[in-house]
Amino acid sequence: MSKKKHGKGGGKGTGKGTGKATAKRPAPAAAAHPEWDVPPSEALRVPAGFDLAAYDRASTPGFDGDKAAGQALVAHHADELSDLQERLFAEGRSGGSRSVLLVLQGMDTSGKGGIVRHVVGLVDPQGVAHRSFGVPTPEERKHHYLWRVRRALPEPGYIGVFDRSHYEDVLIARVDSLVGPDVWEKRYDEINRFEEKVVASGTTIVKVALLVSYEEQRARLMERLERPDKFWKYNPNDVDSRKKWPAYQEAYQSVLDRTNTEIAPWHVVPADRKWFARLAVSELLLDALRGLDLGWPAADFDVKVEKKRLAAT
Ligand code: AMP
Ligand code: MG
Repeated sequence: MSKKKHGKGGGKGTGKGTGKATAKRPAPAAAAHPEWDVPPSEALRVPAGFDLAAYDRASTPGFDGDKAAGQALVAHHADELSDLQERLFAEGRSGGSRSVLLVLQGMDTSGKGGIVRHVVGLVDPQGVAHRSFGVPTPEERKHHYLWRVRRALPEPGYIGVFDRSHYEDVLIARVDSLVGPDVWEKRYDEINRFEEKVVASGTTIVKVALLVSYEEQRARLMERLERPDKFWKYNPNDVDSRKKWPAYQEAYQSVLDRTNTEIAPWHVVPADRKWFARLAVSELLLDALRGLDLGWPAADFDVKVEKKRLAAT
């Protein structure tokens, strides 16, 4: 299944990782990404002065291959992703404190679910803590907006996946005026402080904004209306959100301007080509895991003694 196109990879880290979650993430070696002109984490990282309106959502920034090459590369990453996830899980079971959190944000139809299925789905589900954030429940509404987010943070050893997140509280909350500007204005800094604590506690945060174009969103919503097997994915509210597209773009621009921190940077992923978005996120997840320089926990028992004991049974 997985084509070994390039011999590098394997289970080892880049060798540059410091192992400290608070340290700046090492830039992955270019050699580890032969199909990428620019390493994906660099090509997709939000630069200062980023202009969301001008971003080409059908582009494949940094990647010099076609759909088939992209799909082959994702398949190729499966073994390494799975191996690193198991190392992370083993570390967590052995007293480690590290975890990874993939935050997926994007408009309806941007492909968040597809990323979970096709990228996160490459690793052992036992090590994944997945959470979708919808309209807050009556109970959640009684608490601070970060309450439900804190509770969903990955335990040590896990890869947490947020399908939507606390960013909804500066996106839909802002666009639909669920709270006043005095309230949502303060949230950007609050989110930055919150993420700082999460990172300090040992979680590597990978933030991904999946950017689908207005035209492609229409096509994908229309497909949901044309196929009985997709009706369940359609929500009449999706059209109402779509009508507020410019306000959402403005709110996303603010998120990228104000919460793109050194310790928890944003990545933008053009999402009109599903294969590219999946490839991009697989690379970002892989970079995060490689950056942890994960080994295998040493035995906390005497292997020789245990072998003898076992042999005697
Ligand atoms: P979906 O991801 O398609 O299942 O839709 C979930 C819906 O819940 C989206 O319309 C989100 O904007 C909405 N949602 C998520 N978080 C919040 C929040 N904190 N406040 C209000 N709506 C939210
Ligand atoms: Mg939806």
